[in-house]
Amino acid sequence: MKKWHFVIDIEKCLACFNCLVVCKDEFDDNTFPGYSVPQPRFGQKWIDAVPKERGQYPNIDVAYLPKVCMHCANAPCVKASGGAIQKRQDGIVLIDPVKAKGKKDLVKSCPYGLISWNEEANVAQKCTFCAHLIDQGWTKTRCSQACPLEAIKVVYMEDAEFEEMVKAEKLEAYKPELKTKPGGLYKNLYRYTKCFISGSVAYTRDGIERCAEGCKVILFKDKQKIAEQTTDNFGDFKFDKLDEKSGKYQLEFYLDGYNKIVKEVDLATSLNMGEIHF
Ligand code: SF4
Repeated sequence: MKKWHFVIDIEKCLACFNCLVVCKDEFDDNTFPGYSVPQPRFGQKWIDAVPKERGQYPNIDVAYLPKVCMHCANAPCVKASGGAIQKRQDGIVLIDPVKAKGKKDLVKSCPYGLISWNEEANVAQKCTFCAHLIDQGWTKTRCSQACPLEAIKVVYMEDAEFEEMVKAEKLEAYKPELKTKPGGLYKNLYRYTKCFISGSVAYTRDGIERCAEGCKVILFKDKQKIAEQTTDNFGDFKFDKLDEKSGKYQLEFYLDGYNKIVKEVDLATSLNMGEIHF
């Protein structure tokens, strides 16, 4: 049977928050019997773009992780709910607004923190994948429909077809160590979860400092070469997709006509090494 999935591209999200606004528009003040009671206007976000800044001036990039219920296949919330939360055959995980009444503990059952508590209605709430619209034949959720950059997409696919998509587009789970088998996956997740080593290479000739274009930079970890780059016309290099807190790395710089330069860094989070001078 086909299932619904979120497919979210971190590189495309620019934090316009259209997704959050249309989610409020859909659910604030509106009751959808069997699906949801109104989402409070303030204090709850069923979807949010969470920023991550990497690096130091002038080598900085910022990415946003659109965070929304991942409609997990192995959902801890479903297991903890005593029937108040169900995963439907089409993959959508729904909180029953009647059965979840008074069950504040459900908030803690989502390891991603994506279930909220509605004090006034005395009920746990979260993204419904706009199931009330999907069941009327909609092919998109409100957030995916409103995303101008198509950072948030939804697909409805057979498992085998989705597996092919996962491989082809290199989709990944956020926090796979939680083993929730999320139905929603991310593209370019490294922009949020990984870090980089960057810098600029320069040399001085005739008293003028110049960008060292074409400098070979080799990255080593535990004496093993793991990557190689050539600096661009600004003398810049950037090794990305490295693990945070992954310890010591060695970098070797080779520029025609100069002796090799060797540097060592201890990587905690994204690091701009600044200028390396020949
Ligand atoms: Fe449940 Fe959280 Fe998974 Fe959504 S992301 S299905 S709320 S465990």
